[in-house]
Amino acid sequence: MPLSLHTPVTSLHGVGQARAEALQEAKILTVQDILFTFPKSYRDNKIRLLSADLCDKSALFHLTVQNNPTVALLPGGRKIFRFTACDSEENKATVMYFNQPYLRGQIHKGDSFYFFGELKERNGAFFLFSPEREKSIDPSQALKPVYPAVGSVTPRVFAKLADQALKECGEAIPENLPDDILKKYALPDRALALFTIHAPKCAEELEKAKKRFAFENAFFLALKVVQFRESRSIQKLPAFHPVSTEEFEALLPFSLTQAQRQAWLEIQNDMIGTGNIPAMNRLLQGDVGSGKTILAALAAFLCARNGKSTLLMAPTEILASQHYEKLSPLFQKLGIHTILLTGSTPKKERESELKKIHTSIPYLLIGTHALIEEKVHPENLGLTITDEQQRFGAQQRNRLNEKGAFCHSLVMTATPIPRSLAMFLYSGSGISVIDALPPGRQKIDTFYVGENKKDRIYHFLEERLQNGERAYFVCPLIEKNDEICGMVSAKEQFEDLKKRFPDVPIGYLHGKMKPIEKNEVMRAFKDGKIKILVSTTVVEVGVDVPEATLMVIINAERFGLSQLHQLRGRVGRGNKKSYCILVSSSSAKSSRERLKELCDTSDGFRLAEFDLKQRGPGEFFGDRQSGYFDSGFFELFSSSLMQEILEDAKNCLPRFSKTNADNKAIFLLN
Ligand code: ADP
Ligand code: MG
Repeated sequence: MPLSLHTPVTSLHGVGQARAEALQEAKILTVQDILFTFPKSYRDNKIRLLSADLCDKSALFHLTVQNNPTVALLPGGRKIFRFTACDSEENKATVMYFNQPYLRGQIHKGDSFYFFGELKERNGAFFLFSPEREKSIDPSQALKPVYPAVGSVTPRVFAKLADQALKECGEAIPENLPDDILKKYALPDRALALFTIHAPKCAEELEKAKKRFAFENAFFLALKVVQFRESRSIQKLPAFHPVSTEEFEALLPFSLTQAQRQAWLEIQNDMIGTGNIPAMNRLLQGDVGSGKTILAALAAFLCARNGKSTLLMAPTEILASQHYEKLSPLFQKLGIHTILLTGSTPKKERESELKKIHTSIPYLLIGTHALIEEKVHPENLGLTITDEQQRFGAQQRNRLNEKGAFCHSLVMTATPIPRSLAMFLYSGSGISVIDALPPGRQKIDTFYVGENKKDRIYHFLEERLQNGERAYFVCPLIEKNDEICGMVSAKEQFEDLKKRFPDVPIGYLHGKMKPIEKNEVMRAFKDGKIKILVSTTVVEVGVDVPEATLMVIINAERFGLSQLHQLRGRVGRGNKKSYCILVSSSSAKSSRERLKELCDTSDGFRLAEFDLKQRGPGEFFGDRQSGYFDSGFFELFSSSLMQEILEDAKNCLPRFSKTNADNKAIFLLN
């Protein structure tokens, strides 16, 4: 049977049940999904000689094995398989593989292989660690696509699937951009671009194809933005009457900063007036700790005094509970009822709380996105506030927006979106920025050290603990994973700290725990029953523990800058001097630059720009294809082109029909 774009992957040669399941897990269901899973990189298939110029770079070498490989046992049980190999000019390198003793049967003295990997130099000798290895290469392929591993489907198998799909169905890919747009921006058509992505003939063509898909993403995003803007602009709501905030501010232990006041004026102005006014659609940006929560509370207060309710949505239970604990005493004094609703709220309690929603008395409802899933249909809703909005997938955000179709909307983010991107996503709506921190905040001293500095870090930690302070240790992995050698998992870090500090209560937190368990650990850390908290990135957003003064981030190179900045923002929340230690032994230049930048800069906006330049805007979007935002996309956004794309999208909107599939809006070219 001939394949079509919508044929299930199981019809491809080589896809049995196990692979089909792995693909399904990654939401790759059809031939089309295979075609739109793009290579994560391209390997330059030019054969190089071993030379110092190539150090720390990945390259292809054709090497002959010089000796009988040996297997050595390391303390801890790891096995190293090693041998010496040389190129056609007798340059030598030591090649090592970890925990693959079976290679004995595959690699022998005298064999030649094509090795692809990052060349390392130590004391004047070359090394290749776990390079990819092939008996032969296809000389017609100047650039070899490297696919991601999808569960048990290896990159090599994926390449075969992509090849089949491309040969049979590549031509059938429909164009989805109007002709005049293709011409105007000199873009290749979609089928051609797709062929180039999977089988590039040269670097230049590949760049054009990448640009085409980056543009496509930008354009469809622009369609969404434009459509959203138009749908909101026709919505008019009865204006709120202004309310004096004296009563509210009198209850705060501090006075608002100038920057907060300014942002509040902007937010308030969107909602007050006379007669009917357009619904607010505002983004509030402020660095970690700049005090956004209180502005959310003010907005909810204004809303309540106008007889309307507010939904405040947070990405995690920890954050939702924290908001609740902070705001409910305050709102109680103001006579406004606060409700907390999260996934772990017991059913009975949830039902009784939900009943209260159907009253006309205004309340503040705080919760996680479980809020949406639970089909909350609040009456009398005046405002939805989304906290840490960068953490929500686009889909969730859309649903909340639909819920809030007839109310004002405020979204808050602490991972600053670079200005250029924000102007695009929030074009036509307001952006407020809290650009100064509350007074008295100290700079968090940030250090970047190698993994060999563990003793000094522990010594420093000991001093902090003796001072009555608390510390975070953050690791990228939960448990040891053999594929990623040399990384310390949260579990190992936890065990190591327990050994070193047997009398100190230490907590362990990771994303796979049940929300209730997470909350318990977090609570114990807040209350000081736990002094050191070892975790994966679940502590990333918003958590507030003023006694914590030390943040240690292990394998810091694994995190994006904005994420590191967020993590750092977990300390320095009280009045004691705080520290952040970035631990990394990565030799990659881009990681080193990133970590240095973090030591030098405490301005989240500057870091966001840096991240956008270095890693592309994938971080700022939640979609599957966002991987393909990488190349070329930044240039689109950094230039004035972006406004032009918005303008073009606006003009083209009538030529697209909008359908909804899987809760996602899809635009189809008529
Ligand atoms: P974020 O913007 O990261 O969400 P929060 O709203 O959690 O920051 O505020 C961080 C801390 O700063 C909180 O403990 C909050 O009470 C405090 N805070 C907020 N505004 C001020 C202010 N004007 N002066 C002093 N402290 C403030
Ligand atoms: Mg916050």
